Amino acid sequence: MSCSLDEFLSKHGLKITQNPISHRTITTINPIRAGTTIVKSYPLAAFPLPTYEKELCNQCLKNTKLQACSACKKAYYCSTICQKQAWFTQHKFICKKQQHPKYENVVEGAELDEEMLRRVALLISSFQCSHNNRLGDSKLNKVCDILPKEMNITLLIEVFETLQSHKESHPHHTLLYIDKLVSYLCRFGCNNFTIHDKQMFGIGEGTYPIGSLFNHSCRPNAVVMYDGNVQIVRCIEDVNAGEEIAIAYLDVVHPRKKRREILREKYFFECHCRKCGDDDKIIDGKSITTRGFQDIYVIEKIDVIMEKELNDSLDVSDHKQRIVSELENLKKHFGDHELIEKPPILFFLTNLVLSSILPQLDNRFENYIQAFDTLLNSIHFYLSSSSSDFPSVLNPFSIDTLPIVASSFYEFEKKQEWNDAVSVGKIVLAIYLIAYPRFHPMIGWQLFRLGQCMSKCVKDDDIGGGKMREETLVILRHAKR
Ligand SMILES: [Zn+2]
Ligand SMILES: [Zn+2]
Ligand SMILES: [Zn+2]
Repeated sequence: MSCSLDEFLSKHGLKITQNPISHRTITTINPIRAGTTIVKSYPLAAFPLPTYEKELCNQCLKNTKLQACSACKKAYYCSTICQKQAWFTQHKFICKKQQHPKYENVVEGAELDEEMLRRVALLISSFQCSHNNRLGDSKLNKVCDILPKEMNITLLIEVFETLQSHKESHPHHTLLYIDKLVSYLCRFGCNNFTIHDKQMFGIGEGTYPIGSLFNHSCRPNAVVMYDGNVQIVRCIEDVNAGEEIAIAYLDVVHPRKKRREILREKYFFECHCRKCGDDDKIIDGKSITTRGFQDIYVIEKIDVIMEKELNDSLDVSDHKQRIVSELENLKKHFGDHELIEKPPILFFLTNLVLSSILPQLDNRFENYIQAFDTLLNSIHFYLSSSSSDFPSVLNPFSIDTLPIVASSFYEFEKKQEWNDAVSVGKIVLAIYLIAYPRFHPMIGWQLFRLGQCMSKCVKDDDIGGGKMREETLVILRHAKR
């Protein structure tokens, strides 16, 4: 089995090594530049989330004009090719025969797992049937031929069978079909991916055996992106030959405590990545690279800041109130913020982050990490000094702040209130610049949106637009990269 996988990986400049801490590890044979696509792969099965059922093709997840299956009128496809692929691999077995899943409990994911199990099991068994009957019934040959060649279905099934389930599926090795199903199901929790759009909103679910080979890091050097149902693993950092390629299984914006909770409950492991640190194995281990030593202490400080609570008496709703009133405050003073003697801390720290990090985005890694370190130290200083210079005590970088400012940015954008969108959008960008690695798509996306809002402002108001125009150009230039 590992033969064809080894071949596949080496074609992409990758190899599997065994590591005593994280077991199977994918490392790169050659150095990789940030922005490079490492590997593209197809899912064994993937489908849109219930809310996107009528917007995305049920087979390839592309967002184009769709037509419903004429028999059940419940599955939508973009083309006859997609419909055929779905039909011969799974849909003909369930079309009309089943109640349409009601998805009452999507949060728990049970219905999604059930749907995934149905599809994966049907695909694998129809593949095996057609494979075994190659010379017999000519109709059965279709499964293999009908799927795109580059999907490499044989490899996907082989790799899927080797994925760890982290849960005990069944103590006995029997040939009972039900055992097989249970063992598939047990793999889903740790190995399935939420397919997201460019803004990282979840739009579907998929089983990607190749993507599942990559281990997790809270400070990943690669990210997972999607084009329809094709999964793309892309480097967001220059990586040296021999280094591990790691992706994040969760949104790394969560502070350490929350991340650990999620990883323990959903993936059954303790994280010893370079951001979580705190473990002797990491510091003394040989798996860490020279660069790892350089930035490990800097990156650990992110969590210190994001977990910092400034005022014990503030609970989450107080915190929200505080931010909303600061946003109001910002709105009032937009345009003459230089005149504010005591700028709200949100505004003050946002400017501090943007002015120290934006010029470093294109700079060499060493310079960037040095500027980042200095910045984190100053933020820590301001948050700790809670002096009368900063009358409001809230932590702009705590996880409770982000959803409030992000949704308020979205609202302003929707209402086309560009000036307000810009001031709030800058706060969102500042939080992203602190929480995410510097080439993370969330940063690129926010730069792009903010740049668009800023260029609207420049158009709306030509007087005094000079500085704004300059800023806009800088933002848009970074966004393009
Ligand atoms: Zn399609
Ligand atoms: Zn149908
Ligand atoms: Zn971690």
